[in-house]
Amino acid sequence: MRIINIGNRVVNNYLLLTPKGWLAVDTGYAGGFRRFVNGLAAHSIDVSDIKFIFLTHAHDDHAGFLGELMNATDAQIIVHTHSVERLLTGHNQRIGGCSGILAKIFVEGMYFVGKGKHEFPAIDVSNRAIIWDGTSQPLLEQDIPLKILALPGHTLDSIGLLSEDGELFCGDAAMNGFPSVNRNIIWIENLNNYRNSWDRMIKAKAKIIFPSHGKPFPSTDLEKYRPYLEKIVLR
Ligand SMILES: [Zn+2]
Repeated sequence: MRIINIGNRVVNNYLLLTPKGWLAVDTGYAGGFRRFVNGLAAHSIDVSDIKFIFLTHAHDDHAGFLGELMNATDAQIIVHTHSVERLLTGHNQRIGGCSGILAKIFVEGMYFVGKGKHEFPAIDVSNRAIIWDGTSQPLLEQDIPLKILALPGHTLDSIGLLSEDGELFCGDAAMNGFPSVNRNIIWIENLNNYRNSWDRMIKAKAKIIFPSHGKPFPSTDLEKYRPYLEKIVLR
């Protein structure tokens, strides 16, 4: 599957070329839409060529310009059922905790760069969305070889996308870069769910993990770092 990434240093914006047109995995922070459109243009893609928007979860750095992207396309939006209500609130849910001391320092530091409130434009996607209930496979049903995986833990509504070539777009179920040390995400709503989602990713037998933050990494890293998840205490 052809994959491009037009994201920045903070968050990746993967675009996948499906047999039915481009699929965008998430957006970015509010205010990033113009940069996103310019990034597409550099690849000779018009924003209206996007036919699917897959939201890995309703967080500010993933859903920030979802509304603008929806307005600019006739794309089908694919979201978890819990994302629908979370998107209406316009902010990240304030439950859970940081996965380590470095993560906590980093999260507290986000206030100083203006990202600490974790807000995004509230949006009602219910009229436009394929709302995923955990059982159906709406993309496979449309002959698009992408399987949706439930990956709760970072958030209750976290979902991922597995291609037939073994590429797993995991959103924030894993992370590869500062301040994460062992590929785990820095914020976790539910630690038990999070560990189970890693087991689900390992069982999925992907080849390469494409996280929303940091560079792609081999899925063998998940097995390598899985024991560290047992040591995490949320703070
Ligand atoms: Zn994120």
